[in-house]
Amino acid sequence: MKTEIPYDRFAHVPERIFGLVDLAYNLWWSWHSSASVLFKMLNRAEWKMSRHNPVRMLLDTPPSFLERAAATPEFLRRYDIIMNRFQEYMVPGTSWFTQHYPVREPLTIAYFSSEFGLHQSLPFYAGGLGILAGDHIKASSDLGVPTVSAGFMYAEGYLHQHIEADGWQRNVAEILDRDAAPVLRVLDDDGKQVVVRVPQVDPPIYVAVWKVQVGRVPLYLLDTHIDENLPENRSISHRLYLTEIEYRLRQELVLGIGGRKVLHMLGAEYSAMHLNEGHSAFALLERLRERIEEGMSFEEAREQVRNTSLFTTHTPVAAAHDVFPEDLMAKYFHGYSESLGLSWNDFMALGKDPLSSGAGFNMTAFALRMSRFHNAVSRRHGQVAREMWQPLWPDLPVDEVPIDYITNGVHLLTWLNHRIESIFDRYVDPVYPDWRENYDNPIIWEVVDEIPDEDLWREHQWLKMKLFARIRERKRLKWAGHRDEPENLAAEGLMLDTAALTIGFARRFAEYKRADLIFDDPDRLERIVNNRWRPVQFIFAGKAHPADEQGKRILQKIYQYSQDPRFGGRIAFVEDYDEQVARYLVQGVDVWLNTPIPPMEACGTSGMKAGMNGVLNLSVLDGWWVEGYNGWNGWAFESRGNNHEDAATIYDLIENEIAPLYYSRMMDDVPHRWVQMMKESMKSIAPHYCALRMLKEYVTNYYPTVCRFAVGSREQMAGLEGVCPPGPAPEKK
Ligand SMILES: *Cc1c(COP(=O)(O)O)cnc(C)c1O
Repeated sequence: MKTEIPYDRFAHVPERIFGLVDLAYNLWWSWHSSASVLFKMLNRAEWKMSRHNPVRMLLDTPPSFLERAAATPEFLRRYDIIMNRFQEYMVPGTSWFTQHYPVREPLTIAYFSSEFGLHQSLPFYAGGLGILAGDHIKASSDLGVPTVSAGFMYAEGYLHQHIEADGWQRNVAEILDRDAAPVLRVLDDDGKQVVVRVPQVDPPIYVAVWKVQVGRVPLYLLDTHIDENLPENRSISHRLYLTEIEYRLRQELVLGIGGRKVLHMLGAEYSAMHLNEGHSAFALLERLRERIEEGMSFEEAREQVRNTSLFTTHTPVAAAHDVFPEDLMAKYFHGYSESLGLSWNDFMALGKDPLSSGAGFNMTAFALRMSRFHNAVSRRHGQVAREMWQPLWPDLPVDEVPIDYITNGVHLLTWLNHRIESIFDRYVDPVYPDWRENYDNPIIWEVVDEIPDEDLWREHQWLKMKLFARIRERKRLKWAGHRDEPENLAAEGLMLDTAALTIGFARRFAEYKRADLIFDDPDRLERIVNNRWRPVQFIFAGKAHPADEQGKRILQKIYQYSQDPRFGGRIAFVEDYDEQVARYLVQGVDVWLNTPIPPMEACGTSGMKAGMNGVLNLSVLDGWWVEGYNGWNGWAFESRGNNHEDAATIYDLIENEIAPLYYSRMMDDVPHRWVQMMKESMKSIAPHYCALRMLKEYVTNYYPTVCRFAVGSREQMAGLEGVCPPGPAPEKK
């Protein structure tokens, strides 16, 4: 089994720079700004048109451009440096992991997730969970943690959002062109794409296998859109999160059971499994079945599977935990339960929710039972999850429920703007030349204090202008494409003012996120926005789930406010929030607003992205901000439990603290105290809320321990003593 880059399609790329083709098929380039600059230099217009998809760009770039680049010394100089760095990165020599865990056994982790947000050219994510999974495997790659991952080839992705003139969200389908994206077919020895039958399902479901190379980590994607499947099964992998329950069950069955099978077939042996949320939990069943098929007793197999599995739970929102009704489960799993040697009732009991028995098969309850190691995603969420799932451990007091936490982090090199990165090269590089590998060390960030206020402020202003320019450009295209009315030009940000204090809010339009909170008192908001001396503007973005009518109504309400002349074009809504829009927003606004109803936000990650770029957080105390706020790096408030009071708190903060601070300028027009806070934000947030810190915690708290159980024998375990820190205490009976 192998993957091959279709080199013959790139025959027009000159030999001297042919390495660009390899680079294009490894997302490594996407978090190394010098590599993306190389693509941009090659063909600026096409780079933009392709939305930074180097595969598409290379395919569409005329030979003359490529030949010119291959004859330009400056281009070649950069090309050689980058290809060198790329090769050094890819050669599995030393890495943080091999330095700290010099073990003989291959301790591979199989990381399963229903979505992966890696880059805007690959639409395999809906929101935060996917972006987190993408950031997780990028950090695994950077640290050299041996990882393989499995997910879905969603050709249609989540949804593309068009906003109608009346503010109603319309979903537009856009199919991924698999042949012009950085994905590769996994081929068998005859050069045909590998197709795997999902075990134990009748009528059968087949998946074709694709691969995305994420630095050193391969991500295998399952695709049901193939002729071998019955028509109704072809669409299983089309889109994320459809609401129809049987469809979801089939998706999760394919992801878990099919995904496990695919990794097995590819010879991607692994010692432990890490499930990112419950959607892929059926993989645990398949591991059980394999062991039972090999002759183990159910109890023995269960212990092995549990000991080698880690489950991360991501949300306290009840509706986000999948529960499948018994009759549906019976339709797909009757034969399966027999192959496990279980009676139907015993099988269903594996997924029983202790609080509502008879409700069906709860994927989270099942994953918690079938894995020994579990974690939540922030300190506060850890408490909430222990309370929520305490009934599964009826003999334990809440604080002993074995659900620990590791606070999420974001992949810094993906989210830190390259302008800020260049400042770092100037001020940090001379002191810590290897800061790009060690940026989770807070000491490195102390150097931020050395950056002159004027420099940081100037870069921030540049990023803000860039954001506004992007917004105008998108708007221009929409208008030129006859998709818009002139009066909406203001609603979508054409009148934004680079001199005004700008507050960003971009989230899924789920009700608990309270996107419309600041419209609680429109008259007061109007005064704040139109303050003659201290104007304030707001930029919104985000999608409502296609089936969430309430979410769409909230979105429409905000859109209609943005159309209303009384707010003077200072409230804007940016269409089609995605990874790219997120990047411009978290780097280009002044303040990042977050208003969920506590304790619904398990962690939240967009505020981390903002904070490390010097964008100040204004957030209710929930999720990560409970840990992240230190009194100097942004603004925080406790929710008083109702929208009215919370909105008033925000108005007060903006009027009395935030706007005055922003507009207090000296002769040099730099708000020095504001810049001090930006520095404090960068210093306190970047080293702690980055994925490097997160991944190191997964490694030190879990991975070797989980793998130790997998490696098995006593001697091997002894060999690991000393190199592996002790893992979490074994679960108490
Ligand atoms: C970071 C990110 C999210 C998650 O943001 P939250 O603060 O967790 O809501 C969602 N969507 C995109 C595109 C992102 O980049």
